[in-house]
Amino acid sequence: MINRIEHLGIAVADLVKSEELFEKLLDRKPYKSEEVESEEVTTLFFRVGETKVELLEGQSENSAISKYLEKRKEGIHHIALGVTHLEYEINRLKQQGFEFINEVPKLGADGKRIVFIHPRSANGILVELCEDISKSPQDEEE
Ligand code: ZN
Repeated sequence: MINRIEHLGIAVADLVKSEELFEKLLDRKPYKSEEVESEEVTTLFFRVGETKVELLEGQSENSAISKYLEKRKEGIHHIALGVTHLEYEINRLKQQGFEFINEVPKLGADGKRIVFIHPRSANGILVELCEDISKSPQDEEE
């Protein structure tokens, strides 16, 4: 089941500058910074009510974020939907005709298993599906 918008991913060129900017904007500090090896990105998370803002900076030229910034400007990079039963949702969405960038879940930031739906099959939006592996589905309501 798709439960909520888990976070918004924002591609930034300079994480230090963007941290300052988002601290001013949101009037709070980030709660977590994390390197994601599988994506070659450094992330910074701010809690905003029920959801989060994830700032993403590429660690190398090979990073998807660096490639994204070469083609486009900084801005909203992806929308992440929080799901329970990730494999079920992948199969359901494949049957509905959505194309995946990766169908086999990867380990993402913030204790998540993640897959991405290609923007060409989702109105130009890169959609991340993420399942929390730091707690069991029964704990979701906390
Ligand atoms: Zn994300």
